[in-house]
Amino acid sequence: MRLCAICAQENKTCCVSRDILLSAGDLERIAVHTGAADFFELRKPTSPEYLDQDDDPNWNHYTLFADGSRRVVKHGSPGICWFLTARGCLLPEQVRPLVCRLHPVEFTEQMITGLSRECPAEHLPENETLLTNLEMDLDLAELCRQQLYAELRQETLRRSAKQPDQKRTGKSKECTGSAGYLPGSMGDAANCRQRPWPVR
Ligand code: SF4
Repeated sequence: MRLCAICAQENKTCCVSRDILLSAGDLERIAVHTGAADFFELRKPTSPEYLDQDDDPNWNHYTLFADGSRRVVKHGSPGICWFLTARGCLLPEQVRPLVCRLHPVEFTEQMITGLSRECPAEHLPENETLLTNLEMDLDLAELCRQQLYAELRQETLRRSAKQPDQKRTGKSKECTGSAGYLPGSMGDAANCRQRPWPVR
């Protein structure tokens, strides 16, 4: 049994009660696929913990706008991702937000750093690992990670060029440095990404 199905039974999938960050690339891919433009909003992180990104010092600079908000998928009903339906994610895997495609892989701008401990690994069958259970490919996840940061850096540079004097929130302005299985569904299960709530 997929671990995601277990989460779905408990209504605890990663598509619930999370903020799903959208890169500019995500925005474009989803808009082209859905023909919609009303699936996102700018929202400030609700938890101060979110701003603690010591292991990935450019993250806040890349993702927070000047007012401290981020571009995230809207919630349909409270806490539920706009794209989540009774049959799972409305978006095909290649269109889903990169952070969804990466979950439960954890990462920084430099590398994949591990796997989230949020998944109920204690339910894994003896002969399965988290990756095999979720049918995840780490090479594909690495490509998603690289794509995510490339898109974030590109947007940050564009913003900086437009607003050279705007003060930004974040710890660093240096540009150093989501496929895995994807969220599936409430029914068949699956989901998005890393790190305790809220997701990046
Ligand atoms: S996988 Fe789909 S339904 Fe789940 S959080 Fe991501 S976009 Fe939303």
